[in-house]
Amino acid sequence: MKICSGFLKTKKASVLMTALMFMGCGIMGSSKPNIVLIIIDTLRADHLGCYGYDRETSPVLDSLAEEGVLFSRCQAQAPWTLPAHATIWTGLTVVSHQARRSGTDTHGVDISLPSIATILKGEGYVTLGFVNIFLLNGDFGFDNGFDHYSWYPVGDGRAEESVSEILQWFDDNRGNPSPKLVVLHLYDVHSPYDPPASFDSLFSPVGTRGVTDWDALEGGIIHNRQDRDHLVNLYDGEIAWVDSQLGRLFAGLRERGVTDNSLIIVTSDHGEEFLEHGRIGHGQSLYQELIHVPLIISGNDIPAGLIDTITAGQFDILPTIAGYVGVTLPEGVEGVDLFLPHDPDRPIPSSGLWPGKCFLNEIEGFETIASVLSGRMKGIVNFTTGYEIMHDLAKDPLELYELPLDTVLLRNIETYWATPPVANPPGVFNEGIEESLEGLGYI
Ligand SMILES: [Zn+2]
Repeated sequence: MKICSGFLKTKKASVLMTALMFMGCGIMGSSKPNIVLIIIDTLRADHLGCYGYDRETSPVLDSLAEEGVLFSRCQAQAPWTLPAHATIWTGLTVVSHQARRSGTDTHGVDISLPSIATILKGEGYVTLGFVNIFLLNGDFGFDNGFDHYSWYPVGDGRAEESVSEILQWFDDNRGNPSPKLVVLHLYDVHSPYDPPASFDSLFSPVGTRGVTDWDALEGGIIHNRQDRDHLVNLYDGEIAWVDSQLGRLFAGLRERGVTDNSLIIVTSDHGEEFLEHGRIGHGQSLYQELIHVPLIISGNDIPAGLIDTITAGQFDILPTIAGYVGVTLPEGVEGVDLFLPHDPDRPIPSSGLWPGKCFLNEIEGFETIASVLSGRMKGIVNFTTGYEIMHDLAKDPLELYELPLDTVLLRNIETYWATPPVANPPGVFNEGIEESLEGLGYI
């Protein structure tokens, strides 16, 4: 694979851009490409082979990366499901779209915001959503703009069924000439780590025996290396299982002609901590194990086998899709089209906006945190405690050595934090949500 920083520095990309300028429209002209966006919940980038992992967890995604562009430095805009998906849907940062927990209310995505589904539906797309967690259901606005939207409350272990649902839809709708948007969210990699037979023992000699449930994790009984390694073994088994199902999906879409003209994007909403900074799970910090997410883009006219080291964010996904399709973006979208020139040092913000969790283990309570990555430097500010740190990710990718926060980076974080919201999603409360969030370890 070739390594570059900024897609447009490649020869193929320059040719592509020249063609775009002369066409004055999207890559495919009148024949709009199908868009397949896959979000694998809780998948940290560094546990994929194509991101340098030493286990063979992801042969299918590795092949996809060989056929397209792998963005090696993509940041999640939030360390948990709801706000990260709102960012992917809208191309906005968390402080702008305001998807969050507030007291006992949960605020989803504001349906007045243009989103990937509403924008592409307006362009004549058939829009299809398949999601596997209640946080992405219609109560929280995520179904807005979708012609077909199926969701499951907690779809752990449903990767096979979700893939079958998609292929069945294409079988039932043969001959439909409209371009399709397919958004697939898979939950299997999320805890509990209980991969199906054969995948459970792929990396774990004792299979799923032992600590596998979230309550046990929260109980703090894995604060030793052996238990931690056991969980990682099972987590990796889940990744391999999902990867195999993506192989089924890609083969099925290919058989049905869907991928003859398509853009395939694979990412995740956030990663997972395994005691790197003292905690297990996600939602509670902004370290890289939680916000470094995969981003692989493959499609017609996309160069093959490129690793792009430029910084990117989930908020770039919508603008990049829009650029590929040839749609003018609504005003206010904060991400950029990754296939157009942009500042390699632009600040990439992330934040929790979730009272009750914090990035320092020993502090519990109502705290708010934000981070910005700019070039190689990353700053984190805890606005509640005033604690500020910085890491040089080039020298210290594991964020083990805290540096004093640079004033420019601090200003970037403060500017991000002061960004006026552009949306006001309604708060939703019911006891079922509270119980479900508690069951997932979120509250
Ligand atoms: Zn998630």
